[in-house]
Amino acid sequence: MALGEFDLIRNFFDRPGLRSHLNDVVGIGDDCALLSLQPNQQLAQSLDTLVEGVHFPQKCDPCLLGYRALAVNLSDLAAMGAKPHSFTLGLTLPDSNDIWLQSFSDGLAELASVHQVGLIGGDTTRGPLTISIQVQGTLPKGQALRRNGARVGDLIYVSGYLGDSAGALPDVLRGEGPKNARTNEQSYLLERYYRPTPRIALGQWLLENGATAALDISDGLLGDLGHILKASQVGAELKLSSVPVSKELEGLLGSEKARELALTGGDDYELCFTWPDQKKLQLPDSLLADNHVTCVGRITSSSGLVDAETGQPLSPQAYQHF
Ligand code: ADP
Ligand code: MG
Repeated sequence: MALGEFDLIRNFFDRPGLRSHLNDVVGIGDDCALLSLQPNQQLAQSLDTLVEGVHFPQKCDPCLLGYRALAVNLSDLAAMGAKPHSFTLGLTLPDSNDIWLQSFSDGLAELASVHQVGLIGGDTTRGPLTISIQVQGTLPKGQALRRNGARVGDLIYVSGYLGDSAGALPDVLRGEGPKNARTNEQSYLLERYYRPTPRIALGQWLLENGATAALDISDGLLGDLGHILKASQVGAELKLSSVPVSKELEGLLGSEKARELALTGGDDYELCFTWPDQKKLQLPDSLLADNHVTCVGRITSSSGLVDAETGQPLSPQAYQHF
């Protein structure tokens, strides 16, 4: 690659805030990154690609983009209870713009520092703006929170408030960000869209304390819970009135539309998990403060997902009737 690109990597990616703190890691600068695992550990790996004009609008604030690209990847680690270890970045750029790169790199570094996850390598190419991030995390061997562990009688929980990102989408498409939103509600929703909270600490606690299954909600609760049901070969009843909706979303769109988005909208990056009924879910105070966790239903032996109050089948398509 051209000399200019070595400078680019040194200036924007091999920098404080993005460097790994682990001393058994070889990061940027050699042909491969090297990472070490303890004998009783397993590596969790996940990759997500964001393409301009497909996954984010043109002229998007690069700082928000950097943050979001890493957040959606860390969310996959959270869903399996993994501890973030490191990440690699595949960056395709139409041109080399230092202001853009500095801002993008700052957004990445902000979240990377929170989770102490180092950027250990990547690839840089020219072309339409595309951001691929692969994250690595560690897990105690054989103990990952999978989608296939839900058992009849388990309670179903979700973290946070659902539907906020879907509520922000019209503003996102207009090119708005949290800072230039017209109202406080819109600013809150845009913040949830661009800066989702990967539930890393919650995921690890759930793994250590006996959750039976989990995933992160990226395509709407109804559809994603369906993945747990299918993998676990069980059914579920959902109490629609319990599904957590923020006061901002409800205030902006009314309760019917807010509930529809909470059930079917995408990009929440909250966790949905199942928990044995016999065991009380008692989160430590440190997690209670940051993670609003709500029971929304129960696993049943029937097949499919039904409304707990009416017994009517629930599907993402069937629910979008407003
Ligand atoms: P190679 O030609 O061997 O693939 P490169 O010249 O592409 O290596 O990259 C040089 C070094 O910089 C490697 O360690 C690579 O992992 C790292 N690197 C390249 N692009 C990025 C990027 N966008 N972010 C982080 N590291 C990068
Ligand atoms: Mg390369």
